[in-house]
Amino acid sequence: MTDASDPNDDPFAALLRGDPVAPPTIHEASAAERAKENEMLQRAFQRDGRRTRRRNRLRAMRKSLKIYTIVIVFVAALLGVFWWQTSGSTQQRLLPTHELRDIRVVRVIEVTAADRPDPAGTDTEIRNQITNMNQWFRTETTADGAGVTANLRTVDRAFKLEHVTLLVRADLLSGSATPSLEVAQAMSSAGFTLGADEAAIVFIRIRPVSPICGESAARYAVVFSTACSSATAESASNSSRVAAHELLHVLGAVDERCAKHAGANGHVIDNPHDIMYAASSATAAPKSADEHLDPGRDDYWGITKAGCTDIAKLPLWVKAK
Ligand SMILES: [Zn+2]
Repeated sequence: MTDASDPNDDPFAALLRGDPVAPPTIHEASAAERAKENEMLQRAFQRDGRRTRRRNRLRAMRKSLKIYTIVIVFVAALLGVFWWQTSGSTQQRLLPTHELRDIRVVRVIEVTAADRPDPAGTDTEIRNQITNMNQWFRTETTADGAGVTANLRTVDRAFKLEHVTLLVRADLLSGSATPSLEVAQAMSSAGFTLGADEAAIVFIRIRPVSPICGESAARYAVVFSTACSSATAESASNSSRVAAHELLHVLGAVDERCAKHAGANGHVIDNPHDIMYAASSATAAPKSADEHLDPGRDDYWGITKAGCTDIAKLPLWVKAK
Protein backbone atom coordinates (compact mmCIF):
# COMPACT_ATOMS: atom_id res chain seq x y z
CA MET A 1 0.00 0.00 0.00
CA THR A 2 1.37 3.37 -0.91
CA ASP A 3 1.18 6.25 1.48
CA ALA A 4 0.12 9.30 -0.54
CA SER A 5 1.58 11.55 2.11
CA ASP A 6 5.04 10.09 1.67
CA PRO A 7 7.02 13.14 0.50
CA ASN A 8 9.32 10.90 -1.50
CA ASP A 9 6.48 9.92 -3.72
CA ASP A 10 5.28 13.43 -4.39
CA PRO A 11 7.03 14.95 -7.45
CA PHE A 12 5.97 18.47 -6.39
CA ALA A 13 7.48 17.93 -2.97
CA ALA A 14 10.62 16.64 -4.68
CA LEU A 15 10.72 19.82 -6.81
CA LEU A 16 10.30 21.98 -3.70
CA ARG A 17 13.10 20.07 -2.06
CA GLY A 18 15.34 20.77 -5.07
CA ASP A 19 15.84 17.11 -5.83
CA PRO A 20 17.02 16.42 -9.35
CA VAL A 21 14.09 15.70 -11.61
CA ALA A 22 14.42 13.12 -14.30
CA PRO A 23 13.76 14.67 -17.71
CA PRO A 24 10.58 13.52 -19.34
CA THR A 25 11.21 10.66 -21.65
CA ILE A 26 10.12 11.19 -25.27
CA HIS A 27 9.08 8.04 -26.90
CA GLU A 28 9.90 7.92 -30.58
CA ALA A 29 7.60 5.46 -32.31
CA SER A 30 9.44 2.85 -34.31
CA ALA A 31 8.65 2.30 -38.01
CA ALA A 32 6.83 -0.92 -37.12
CA GLU A 33 4.78 0.85 -34.46
CA ARG A 34 3.93 3.63 -36.90
CA ALA A 35 2.84 1.13 -39.47
CA LYS A 36 0.68 -0.64 -36.87
CA GLU A 37 -0.83 2.65 -35.76
CA ASN A 38 -1.50 3.60 -39.34
CA GLU A 39 -3.14 0.29 -39.93
CA MET A 40 -5.36 0.73 -36.88
CA LEU A 41 -6.28 4.23 -37.95
CA GLN A 42 -7.02 2.97 -41.42
CA ARG A 43 -9.26 0.27 -39.97
CA ALA A 44 -11.04 2.77 -37.77
CA PHE A 45 -11.61 4.96 -40.78
CA GLN A 46 -12.95 2.04 -42.76
CA ARG A 47 -15.20 1.02 -39.85
CA ASP A 48 -16.43 4.57 -39.61
CA GLY A 49 -16.95 4.73 -43.35
CA ARG A 50 -18.92 1.48 -43.32
CA ARG A 51 -21.02 2.70 -40.42
CA THR A 52 -21.72 5.99 -42.15
CA ARG A 53 -22.57 4.25 -45.40
CA ARG A 54 -24.91 1.83 -43.58
CA ARG A 55 -26.57 4.75 -41.82
CA ASN A 56 -26.95 6.60 -45.11
CA ARG A 57 -28.38 3.51 -46.77
CA LEU A 58 -30.91 3.03 -43.98
CA ARG A 59 -31.86 6.68 -44.15
CA ALA A 60 -32.27 6.47 -47.95
CA MET A 61 -34.31 3.27 -47.57
CA ARG A 62 -36.61 4.86 -45.05
CA LYS A 63 -37.01 7.83 -47.35
CA SER A 64 -37.74 5.72 -50.45
CA LEU A 65 -40.06 3.48 -48.41
CA LYS A 66 -42.06 6.55 -47.57
CA ILE A 67 -42.19 7.53 -51.27
CA TYR A 68 -43.07 3.96 -52.32
CA THR A 69 -45.87 3.84 -49.77
CA ILE A 70 -47.29 7.10 -51.05
CA VAL A 71 -47.05 5.90 -54.69
CA ILE A 72 -48.61 2.49 -53.90
CA VAL A 73 -51.50 4.03 -51.98
CA PHE A 74 -52.07 6.51 -54.79
CA VAL A 75 -52.03 3.82 -57.51
CA ALA A 76 -54.33 1.58 -55.45
CA ALA A 77 -56.77 4.45 -55.05
CA LEU A 78 -56.67 5.13 -58.80
CA LEU A 79 -57.23 1.44 -59.61
CA GLY A 80 -60.12 1.36 -57.17
CA VAL A 81 -61.79 4.32 -58.81
CA PHE A 82 -61.16 2.81 -62.28
CA TRP A 83 -62.61 -0.55 -61.23
CA TRP A 84 -65.63 1.12 -59.71
CA GLN A 85 -66.15 3.17 -62.87
CA THR A 86 -65.89 0.21 -65.27
CA SER A 87 -67.37 -2.65 -63.29
CA GLY A 88 -70.95 -3.73 -63.48
CA SER A 89 -73.00 -1.63 -65.81
CA THR A 90 -70.29 -0.26 -68.10
CA GLN A 91 -72.70 -0.10 -70.98
CA GLN A 92 -75.25 1.91 -69.04
CA ARG A 93 -72.65 4.30 -67.68
CA LEU A 94 -70.92 5.08 -70.97
CA LEU A 95 -73.90 4.64 -73.25
CA PRO A 96 -76.95 5.85 -71.35
CA THR A 97 -80.00 3.65 -71.82
CA HIS A 98 -82.23 5.06 -74.47
CA GLU A 99 -85.93 5.54 -74.95
CA LEU A 100 -86.96 3.75 -78.11
CA ARG A 101 -89.79 6.24 -78.56
CA ASP A 102 -87.28 9.08 -78.85
CA ILE A 103 -85.45 7.61 -81.82
CA ARG A 104 -86.54 9.42 -84.97
CA VAL A 105 -83.40 9.54 -87.07
CA VAL A 106 -80.77 7.02 -88.08
CA ARG A 107 -77.32 8.29 -88.96
CA VAL A 108 -75.08 6.21 -91.20
CA ILE A 109 -71.39 6.36 -90.34
CA GLU A 110 -68.36 4.76 -91.87
CA VAL A 111 -65.85 4.28 -89.08
CA THR A 112 -62.16 3.67 -89.72
CA ALA A 113 -59.64 2.34 -87.21
CA ALA A 114 -56.54 4.47 -86.64
CA ASP A 115 -54.25 2.11 -88.57
CA ARG A 116 -56.61 1.32 -91.43
CA PRO A 117 -56.97 3.74 -94.30
CA ASP A 118 -60.42 4.17 -95.76
CA PRO A 119 -60.25 2.24 -99.05
CA ALA A 120 -61.68 3.77 -102.19
CA GLY A 121 -65.15 2.60 -103.16
CA THR A 122 -66.51 1.86 -99.67
CA ASP A 123 -68.79 4.92 -99.74
CA THR A 124 -70.62 3.59 -102.79
CA GLU A 125 -70.79 0.13 -101.22
CA ILE A 126 -72.28 1.49 -97.97
CA ARG A 127 -74.77 3.64 -99.87
CA ASN A 128 -75.92 0.58 -101.81
CA GLN A 129 -76.26 -1.53 -98.64
CA ILE A 130 -78.31 1.14 -96.84
CA THR A 131 -80.52 1.65 -99.90
CA ASN A 132 -81.04 -2.14 -100.05
CA MET A 133 -81.85 -2.23 -96.34
CA ASN A 134 -84.56 0.39 -96.65
CA GLN A 135 -85.86 -1.24 -99.83
CA TRP A 136 -86.13 -4.49 -97.86
CA PHE A 137 -88.06 -2.78 -95.01
CA ARG A 138 -90.37 -1.23 -97.60
CA THR A 139 -91.04 -4.58 -99.30
CA GLU A 140 -91.57 -6.35 -96.00
CA THR A 141 -94.14 -3.80 -94.81
CA THR A 142 -96.21 -3.15 -97.95
CA ALA A 143 -98.57 -5.96 -96.89
CA ASP A 144 -99.41 -3.89 -93.76
CA GLY A 145 -100.84 -1.09 -95.87
CA ALA A 146 -98.02 1.25 -96.79
CA GLY A 147 -94.39 0.34 -96.98
CA VAL A 148 -92.15 2.10 -94.48
CA THR A 149 -88.46 2.83 -94.32
CA ALA A 150 -86.11 3.94 -91.55
CA ASN A 151 -85.80 7.73 -91.44
CA LEU A 152 -82.21 8.48 -92.38
CA ARG A 153 -80.44 11.78 -91.80
CA THR A 154 -80.42 13.47 -95.18
CA VAL A 155 -78.59 16.24 -96.98
CA ASP A 156 -80.08 17.52 -100.24
CA ARG A 157 -82.62 14.69 -100.31
CA ALA A 158 -79.91 11.99 -100.26
CA PHE A 159 -78.97 10.36 -97.00
CA LYS A 160 -75.83 11.69 -95.41
CA LEU A 161 -72.91 9.28 -95.07
CA GLU A 162 -70.62 10.45 -92.29
CA HIS A 163 -67.02 9.44 -91.58
CA VAL A 164 -65.31 9.01 -88.23
CA THR A 165 -61.67 8.05 -87.79
CA LEU A 166 -60.91 6.40 -84.47
CA LEU A 167 -57.84 6.88 -82.30
CA VAL A 168 -57.53 3.13 -81.66
CA ARG A 169 -56.09 0.36 -83.80
CA ALA A 170 -58.26 -2.27 -85.51
CA ASP A 171 -56.83 -5.20 -83.52
CA LEU A 172 -57.88 -3.62 -80.22
CA LEU A 173 -61.47 -3.51 -81.51
CA SER A 174 -61.59 -6.91 -83.18
CA GLY A 175 -59.96 -8.62 -80.19
CA SER A 176 -62.66 -7.42 -77.79
CA ALA A 177 -65.39 -9.73 -76.49
CA THR A 178 -67.85 -6.88 -77.08
CA PRO A 179 -66.52 -5.22 -80.25
CA SER A 180 -69.62 -3.06 -80.87
CA LEU A 181 -69.36 -1.53 -77.42
CA GLU A 182 -65.67 -0.98 -78.05
CA VAL A 183 -66.44 0.75 -81.37
CA ALA A 184 -69.13 2.95 -79.78
CA GLN A 185 -66.75 3.97 -76.99
CA ALA A 186 -63.93 4.64 -79.45
CA MET A 187 -66.31 6.82 -81.49
CA SER A 188 -67.16 8.77 -78.37
CA SER A 189 -63.43 9.17 -77.61
CA ALA A 190 -62.95 10.48 -81.14
CA GLY A 191 -65.54 13.18 -80.42
CA PHE A 192 -68.63 11.61 -81.95
CA THR A 193 -71.94 12.02 -80.13
CA LEU A 194 -75.50 10.98 -80.87
CA GLY A 195 -78.44 13.30 -80.27
CA ALA A 196 -81.27 12.13 -77.99
CA ASP A 197 -83.47 11.28 -80.99
CA GLU A 198 -80.74 9.53 -82.98
CA ALA A 199 -79.47 6.01 -83.54
CA ALA A 200 -76.50 5.01 -85.68
CA ILE A 201 -75.74 2.35 -88.24
CA VAL A 202 -71.98 1.98 -88.21
CA PHE A 203 -69.93 0.26 -90.88
CA ILE A 204 -66.43 -0.70 -89.82
CA ARG A 205 -63.93 -2.86 -91.65
CA ILE A 206 -62.85 -5.21 -88.88
CA ARG A 207 -63.20 -8.96 -88.38
CA PRO A 208 -63.99 -9.69 -84.71
CA VAL A 209 -62.40 -12.77 -83.13
CA SER A 210 -65.88 -14.00 -82.26
CA PRO A 211 -67.43 -14.99 -85.60
CA ILE A 212 -70.13 -12.32 -85.84
CA CYS A 213 -71.12 -10.08 -88.74
CA GLY A 214 -72.69 -7.37 -86.62
CA GLU A 215 -73.52 -6.45 -83.05
CA SER A 216 -75.47 -3.73 -81.33
CA ALA A 217 -74.60 -1.66 -78.27
CA ALA A 218 -77.28 0.72 -77.02
CA ARG A 219 -78.12 2.99 -79.99
CA TYR A 220 -75.26 1.74 -82.17
CA ALA A 221 -76.02 -0.92 -84.81
CA VAL A 222 -72.55 -2.00 -85.86
CA VAL A 223 -71.85 -3.86 -89.10
CA PHE A 224 -68.43 -5.52 -89.33
CA SER A 225 -68.34 -5.13 -93.07
CA THR A 226 -65.34 -7.34 -93.79
CA ALA A 227 -66.28 -10.07 -91.31
CA CYS A 228 -68.91 -12.02 -93.24
CA SER A 229 -69.10 -13.00 -96.83
CA SER A 230 -71.42 -15.93 -96.21
CA ALA A 231 -74.05 -16.81 -93.65
CA THR A 232 -72.75 -17.80 -90.22
CA ALA A 233 -74.38 -18.11 -86.81
CA GLU A 234 -75.39 -14.49 -86.24
CA SER A 235 -75.19 -13.35 -89.81
CA ALA A 236 -77.13 -12.54 -92.86
CA SER A 237 -75.87 -12.98 -96.36
CA ASN A 238 -74.87 -9.36 -96.79
CA SER A 239 -74.37 -6.10 -94.98
CA SER A 240 -77.84 -4.73 -95.72
CA ARG A 241 -79.41 -7.67 -93.83
CA VAL A 242 -76.88 -7.31 -91.00
CA ALA A 243 -77.70 -3.59 -90.79
CA ALA A 244 -81.46 -4.36 -90.63
CA HIS A 245 -80.92 -7.07 -88.00
CA GLU A 246 -78.76 -4.86 -85.76
CA LEU A 247 -81.06 -1.84 -86.19
CA LEU A 248 -83.97 -4.03 -85.01
CA HIS A 249 -81.89 -4.98 -81.95
CA VAL A 250 -81.33 -1.27 -81.26
CA LEU A 251 -85.10 -0.81 -81.45
CA GLY A 252 -85.67 -3.50 -78.82
CA ALA A 253 -86.09 -6.74 -80.78
CA VAL A 254 -86.56 -9.42 -79.63
CA ASP A 255 -88.10 -8.86 -76.19
CA GLU A 256 -88.48 -12.21 -74.44
CA ARG A 257 -91.44 -10.93 -72.36
CA CYS A 258 -93.36 -9.92 -75.47
CA ALA A 259 -92.43 -12.27 -78.29
CA LYS A 260 -94.05 -15.64 -78.78
CA HIS A 261 -90.88 -17.32 -79.96
CA ALA A 262 -88.06 -15.49 -78.25
CA GLY A 263 -84.81 -17.02 -77.07
CA ALA A 264 -81.12 -17.21 -77.88
CA ASN A 265 -80.35 -13.85 -76.31
CA GLY A 266 -82.78 -11.51 -78.06
CA HIS A 267 -83.64 -13.50 -81.18
CA VAL A 268 -86.51 -15.61 -82.45
CA ILE A 269 -86.13 -19.35 -82.38
CA ASP A 270 -89.04 -20.55 -84.50
CA ASN A 271 -88.50 -19.53 -88.09
CA PRO A 272 -85.10 -19.59 -89.85
CA HIS A 273 -86.58 -17.19 -92.43
CA ASP A 274 -87.06 -14.50 -89.78
CA ILE A 275 -84.37 -11.82 -89.99
CA MET A 276 -84.12 -11.97 -86.20
CA TYR A 277 -83.57 -15.71 -86.23
CA ALA A 278 -80.34 -16.88 -84.63
CA ALA A 279 -78.86 -20.19 -85.63
CA SER A 280 -76.66 -20.63 -82.63
CA SER A 281 -76.60 -24.38 -82.13
CA ALA A 282 -75.96 -27.40 -84.31
CA THR A 283 -79.57 -28.46 -83.89
CA ALA A 284 -81.01 -25.23 -85.22
CA ALA A 285 -81.69 -24.89 -88.91
CA PRO A 286 -79.15 -22.69 -90.70
CA LYS A 287 -80.08 -19.07 -91.20
CA SER A 288 -81.75 -18.57 -94.51
CA ALA A 289 -80.68 -16.09 -97.16
CA ASP A 290 -84.38 -15.48 -97.74
CA GLU A 291 -85.16 -13.38 -94.68
CA HIS A 292 -88.34 -11.66 -93.57
CA LEU A 293 -89.64 -9.26 -90.96
CA ASP A 294 -91.45 -11.27 -88.26
CA PRO A 295 -93.52 -13.36 -90.75
CA GLY A 296 -96.00 -14.43 -88.04
CA ARG A 297 -96.39 -10.81 -86.76
CA ASP A 298 -96.26 -12.23 -83.27
CA ASP A 299 -92.74 -11.57 -82.04
CA TYR A 300 -91.68 -7.93 -82.50
CA TRP A 301 -93.35 -6.35 -85.58
CA GLY A 302 -97.08 -5.68 -85.52
CA ILE A 303 -97.58 -7.26 -82.09
CA THR A 304 -100.52 -6.32 -79.90
CA LYS A 305 -99.60 -7.72 -76.48
CA ALA A 306 -100.36 -5.22 -73.70
CA GLY A 307 -97.36 -3.51 -72.17
CA CYS A 308 -95.16 -4.44 -75.12
CA THR A 309 -93.51 -2.18 -77.69
CA ASP A 310 -94.60 -2.81 -81.24
CA ILE A 311 -91.53 -1.85 -83.22
CA ALA A 312 -93.75 -1.10 -86.22
CA LYS A 313 -95.29 1.80 -84.26
CA LEU A 314 -92.03 3.52 -83.35
CA PRO A 315 -91.62 7.06 -84.75
CA LEU A 316 -88.48 6.08 -86.68
CA TRP A 317 -90.49 4.64 -89.58
CA VAL A 318 -91.61 6.90 -92.37
CA LYS A 319 -93.88 6.11 -95.27
CA ALA A 320 -91.82 5.18 -98.30
CA LYS A 321 -92.04 7.75 -101.09
ZN1 LIG B 1 -78.75 -10.64 -83.33
